[in-house]
Amino acid sequence: MVVGAGIAGASAAYFLARGGAAVTVVDAGAHTASHVPSALVNPVRGQSGGVDARALAGMAFTWALVRELEGQGWPVPHGQAGVLRPVPDERARARFERNLPPDLAHRWLRPEESPEPLAPGWAHVLSLPQGGWVDGQALTGALLRASGARVVRGRAVAWTRHEVQLLDAAPCTPTPWWSAAGRWARTGPARPPPTAWARC
Ligand SMILES: Cc1cc2nc3c(=O)[nH]c(=O)nc-3n(C[C@H](O)[C@H](O)[C@H](O)COP(=O)(O)OP(=O)(O)OC[C@H]3O[C@@H](n4cnc5c(N)ncnc54)[C@H](O)[C@@H]3O)c2cc1C
Repeated sequence: MVVGAGIAGASAAYFLARGGAAVTVVDAGAHTASHVPSALVNPVRGQSGGVDARALAGMAFTWALVRELEGQGWPVPHGQAGVLRPVPDERARARFERNLPPDLAHRWLRPEESPEPLAPGWAHVLSLPQGGWVDGQALTGALLRASGARVVRGRAVAWTRHEVQLLDAAPCTPTPWWSAAGRWARTGPARPPPTAWARC
């Protein structure tokens, strides 16, 4: 049982199913951040220029996953066409340079060299050729379909060590519990132990 059908829950369903599990995914159908039409696959954060230790591996994994899904007949609109990061000034560029890992392919461009027109005022452009974009809703949908998971619309409202209760949902066969309810999970009850069982 997976609670939440965003990218975290859909990924969990996919890999659980690949490991042989029969998966049920419950989703409240609300505020799914993963449904952005064009999610950037970009290892360099906002204007801080920070790069998570696992960002490069995550980027490579994302592209491999998209190819794997397409190979199974689940196409996901995407473009591994690189990412351009406009940078406002020398100070910000120095901050980015401090954070860039040596194995992240990148190139600094002058604004007039940018392949896409920029609004005036940007001092530099950081080009990240390994990045790109992916249709978030299509990716979560492809993961869910490829997993063969049963998808149940419902909101988890309470749970104990032994069951999860969903608002307006009928009981179903108990299966191991897993939560991927995103940041909205903060509004729900406390996370149960991973050995708990579910009812939906
Ligand atoms: C406008 C916007 C743009 C973004 N752009 C990017 C980007 O370019 N690149 C990038 O990497 N990231 C981007 N992000 C961040 C990224 O979308 C999120 O980090 C990611 O989608 C979170 O995934 P998730 O599965 O944890 O949560 P979500 O996708 O939010 O999924 C959580 C799911 O859990 C369900 N749920 C919640 N509570 C319950 C409950 N009690 N019972 C049952 N179901 C429940 C909800 O219905 C929802 O479907 C963006 C976010 C936003 C909002």
